Amino acid sequence: MNVRVLFNSSRLLDGLSVGWGLSFLIDNTIMFDTGEKGDLLINNINKLKVDLSLVEAVVISHDHWDHTGGLWEILSKKPNINVYACPGFGSDFKHKIPDFSAKLTEADNFTLIASGIYSTGEIIGTYKEKNISEQALIIKTAKGFSVITGCAHPGIIKILERVKMQLSIKEFYAVFGGFHLKDHSIKDIEMIVKKFSEFKVKRVGATHCSGTNAENLFQETYKGNFLSMKVGDTITI
Ligand SMILES: [Zn+2]
Ligand SMILES: [Zn+2]
Repeated sequence: MNVRVLFNSSRLLDGLSVGWGLSFLIDNTIMFDTGEKGDLLINNINKLKVDLSLVEAVVISHDHWDHTGGLWEILSKKPNINVYACPGFGSDFKHKIPDFSAKLTEADNFTLIASGIYSTGEIIGTYKEKNISEQALIIKTAKGFSVITGCAHPGIIKILERVKMQLSIKEFYAVFGGFHLKDHSIKDIEMIVKKFSEFKVKRVGATHCSGTNAENLFQETYKGNFLSMKVGDTITI
């Protein structure tokens, strides 16, 4: 299965838009997060020749602008699709979905999204001393289970522990997205990298709010199995 990077802070080719936030396209049909702004995301969609007519659902990891920003432009171009949120998302966000004739599903628990693609369901974390509700995506392929995260505000290890428990799995093929480790100490990051090897994670793509220290440490540890997460990259899982 292919996952394409539609939005991030670095790019593979000139002409692609970059900024703060993430967006991925899974198997041409499921979008995970929408970056910071509609026009930037649409530019990448056009340049990467993504066929929006194939998109069936958008899964939003959490209700932060750098993940929801491009959603409205997508819905105006492709109404009547499914949007997966969590119960704890803001009411402004939830009330806006029906304006585009889109269907809102609030994934409180483990939820099937498409064949082999699942939401972890709502996991509560904290951000600026407030609760934040977040879901991650789980993808099952012949290579194994992979997990894609938005910002991982509840904690990347907590998310992976939840997935291990939900699916009784003993190893992960790939884990990538934002790990929110930019304010963590090197010592904490080292412990997290160690935990990834205990969890038998084969390939890692630490990006977005993971921070430079975590990106460097994961890259040094994973070498050829460290995933590039530039706009335009395709990750085969
Ligand atoms: Zn973010
Ligand atoms: Zn966030």
